[in-house]
This record gives sequence, C-alpha cells and structure tokens, in this order.
Amino acid sequence: MTILEDYLIELRREIHRHPELAGEERQTAGLVAEQLRAAGLEVTTGVGGHGVLAVLDGSADGPTVVYRADMDAVDVRYNSLPFPRSSRVFDEGFASRVPDVAHLCGHDLHTAIGVGVARTLAQDSDQVRGRLAFVFQPAEEPLQGARAMLGTGLVQKLAPKESYALHCAPFPAGTITVSPGYGLPGVDNIRIVLPGGDNAAVAAEVQKAVAAEVQKIDTVGLLESVDDYHARFLAVLDPQIAASIQESVSVIQWTEQTEDGQPAVGIMLKVWPQERFPQLRDRIERLAAEAGGHIEYPYGDAFPAMVNSVDLSTAAGQYLGTALGPDSVLWGRASWPYNCEDFALFLKEAPGAMFYLGVADTESGMNGAPHTLDFAADERAIGHGVRAMAGLLTHRLAAIGGSQGSTR
Ligand SMILES: [Zn+2]
Repeated sequence: MTILEDYLIELRREIHRHPELAGEERQTAGLVAEQLRAAGLEVTTGVGGHGVLAVLDGSADGPTVVYRADMDAVDVRYNSLPFPRSSRVFDEGFASRVPDVAHLCGHDLHTAIGVGVARTLAQDSDQVRGRLAFVFQPAEEPLQGARAMLGTGLVQKLAPKESYALHCAPFPAGTITVSPGYGLPGVDNIRIVLPGGDNAAVAAEVQKAVAAEVQKIDTVGLLESVDDYHARFLAVLDPQIAASIQESVSVIQWTEQTEDGQPAVGIMLKVWPQERFPQLRDRIERLAAEAGGHIEYPYGDAFPAMVNSVDLSTAAGQYLGTALGPDSVLWGRASWPYNCEDFALFLKEAPGAMFYLGVADTESGMNGAPHTLDFAADERAIGHGVRAMAGLLTHRLAAIGGSQGSTR
C-alpha cells in the first residue's frame, strides 16, 4: 500500500500541474485509462466526452456497484470564492502550469483515489464478489459530464445496484463524513427580462425584491471569508445547529442583457430541499410580472439536488467506523448549501452516497476548502480514501450479493 500511496501522490501532483477545464480532460483521461488498462480492467474511453468507464470483474458472479470520480479543474477567474488569500499560499513545487486554471475543487485527488481503488482491488480481485464499474467523469463543474456519460447508456447497461463517490471537504484529514438523507442542493437558473430602455434602477429594485422574497423562505448568508466557510461546514456536524438549517436557499444575482439587447436580471438559486423549486419559481415569476417583465429559464428545468440514501449512508458509516475506527467517521445532519454536484444523476440511477473526505490540516494551514483561492489538501487523505473506498466497495458487493454469487 505504501508504494502505491507514494505513487498516487505523484499521480495527483502530475494532474495538479496540468489541470484541464471541463470538456478538455484529454490528458487526465489518458493517464487514467493507461493506469486502469495496465491493472487489467476493461476500459472504454470517450464516454460522454472524455469520460472513462472501467470494469473490474471479481472472483465470483454478483451485483454491480459504481464508483465515480470527477476529473475537471476550475477556471480561477470565474469559479473561485473571492476571499483574500491567507498568508500562506501553497506551492510545494507542483503548482498549476496553466494560467487561470487550477484544481481548486480537489478533483485531482478524487481521480488519484479512484485509480488507487481500482488498482488495489484489481490486485485483490479474490475479495471482489461481483463487478465494479469505475466511472471517471469529465465536466462536473458545469454539471454536464454526468448527464453526458449516462446519455450513452453504457453505465445503465451494467445495471448497477448502488453508486458511491467522495468529495474533498474542510474536515480533518483522516476523517470521512457520511450524511444520511442529506447532500447538496439543486440549482435553478432564472432570468427576469425587463422592459426596454435604461432600466438600471428597475433591475436594482427587482434584485432587492428577489432577495427579500427568498429571505422569507430561509436564506443563508453568502460566504464572505474562509472562517464563514469553515463555520458553515462545521454546522453540518453539530446536531443542534444542523437542526436549524434543514432548509436553505442561497442566491446569486447579476445584471445582464438578452441576445437582442433587453436589460435582464440573472438569478442563480441553490435550494435544499429541491421540493422548494416550484414555489420559488412562482414567487419570482410574480415579481417579474410586477416589474413589467417576464421570466426565462436559460437552462430549462432546475438541476436536481444530490440526495444520499439514508439506509446506504448509514450502513456505510457503520462499516467505515468498524473498518477504520469510530473516530474517523463523522456524521453530517444537514446539507452544505452552496455547491451542487452532478453525482446527483448517478444516485438517481442507483442509490448510494457521496462522502466528504477530510483533507484539512490546521497545523500546517491547509484549509481543505474547495473553490477557495488557496485551497490546499493534506495528501495523506489519498491513502485514507483508497483504503476506505476499497474496503467499502468490497463490503457492499458481498452484502448485496449475499450467498447468491457462485464461484467462477
Ligand atoms: Zn468538486
């Protein structure tokens, strides 16, 4: 494991140096495919863009379980939280060599861990009682890659029973957080098109009205500092605070122009639970009408929330506590209200869970906070993630397959 762990850290750094934006993950996908072929998996590339699907057959027939990792990096100019950098900016010698592009969301770690899990289990396929489908997904940041990969039908053909993934989070390295029944919000994009003319004042009024309307439901203040960020994440773990944030709406608004030059207000709503969407759309449609304008939905339907299975998350937390020690498992009791995740669509195909992998190390100042400009991760989390996920996947196949699997 140690040799593989060192190797995976190198692999992560290689990906970190050469980050690729959504839709451009050619090199990253190439690295992944090469690794998995060498390990003996059956690999299909070019799945829904640069997606890679790799199948590992175990020593016995049995059910299929999906493990998904995402590969794309972040455009630093548009997709990072504008906090001031802390005094310590990490450049351990493997900083991004691509201007304005960086792995600020930890997908380089997710990819390295996915490769590690596949290689570990390929070496130990006697333990695997069924089939594992490893999904390396492109274009998570714009919430397009999962839809594109699933659109090929190749994952569904494998008839997966469960699906799992993890995401870096600002919890201590060495921990994994499970959140039964919770997850990440859905997102809705709404445009209020205003009557023509110089409408800056009307746009400002509309934005104020939208903010007030959303406030009536339950809004969360937008993050203004890394401290806010950490406080919000820790709140998910505190049963009392978590109980008070069971519903959340975060809103971002801006002014824009339609293609034919009409003034407009753009609105992005992140909402938990997603059952709130119709009500919010109604309210905003009414506000638009009151301002003499109308509504457009530039991306159509709202993007669904990512909802972890209650039963499978609970079972996973219990397994991980036994396998890795009770202190390594944390329990989240609310949803993080800011980021969306297109793993949501895999969970609709086969229930399961996304876990938060702790990558923060306060002593060395690594904040572990995705999308901050000084995101830095404790790489010890890579080996921890591999052990946790390899163990969990093996355990799940045995649990679902029960005694039905026959030896090949
Ligand atoms: Zn991410």
